[in-house]
Amino acid sequence: MIFGGLQKCTLIDFPGKIAAILFAQGCNFRCPYCHNRELWPLKSESFVPWGTILEFLKARRGKLDGVVISGGEPTLHEDLMEIFDQIHGFGFATKLDTNGSNPDMLQKLFKCGSLDFIAMDLKHLPNRYVEACGISILPENILRSVALIKKSSIDHEFRTTVVPDIHRMEELEALAPIVRGARRFTLQNFVPTYAANEACRAKKPFETGELEKLRSIFTPIVEIFTIR
Ligand code: SF4
Repeated sequence: MIFGGLQKCTLIDFPGKIAAILFAQGCNFRCPYCHNRELWPLKSESFVPWGTILEFLKARRGKLDGVVISGGEPTLHEDLMEIFDQIHGFGFATKLDTNGSNPDMLQKLFKCGSLDFIAMDLKHLPNRYVEACGISILPENILRSVALIKKSSIDHEFRTTVVPDIHRMEELEALAPIVRGARRFTLQNFVPTYAANEACRAKKPFETGELEKLRSIFTPIVEIFTIR
């Protein structure tokens, strides 16, 4: 697996855990609001070698609760399952952040028993995905990932980063049948400052009050609904 970065500690990226984040290099999406553009290209060498990460994790046993593998898109890496096995073997809880484009990899991970939490970005309604993720994709793969995650016994979250003009309020409401029954669903307001796309950097995020109008739609249909 090729890593583009390591964040040694986070209190907010793994619910209930003090965790480190490993950033996978390479992404198959081109979201205009992405803050990790430097992770887009697939590279042949890690910015942070796996050996360095192993040493770091060994030294943090008993100090950190968990490890998040984020990206980029981690499921592009064929050895993701082996990496989770090793991390779990050290006694850390594990979390995957994914864009949901690779349901086959999710199926493998769910069987391996080394994954404790999964967060999937639900970028948009299937017929509007291209606007939010910047490329043409197979919506069936996204919907298959959603179904696999909801059916699994693994703790999970779906999250949608909301951007005015890309998302309309009625489209956000229409996500309800997709996330119904999930453990967690979060609407996160996009932050323009580091957005990959220049036009996106000029946009104003939604007013919090506007997003709050959606609370009555999502609160009854998922276990935990959050706006951040
Ligand atoms: S926000 Fe989009 S482009 Fe950026 S890393 Fe995530 S999936 Fe890839």
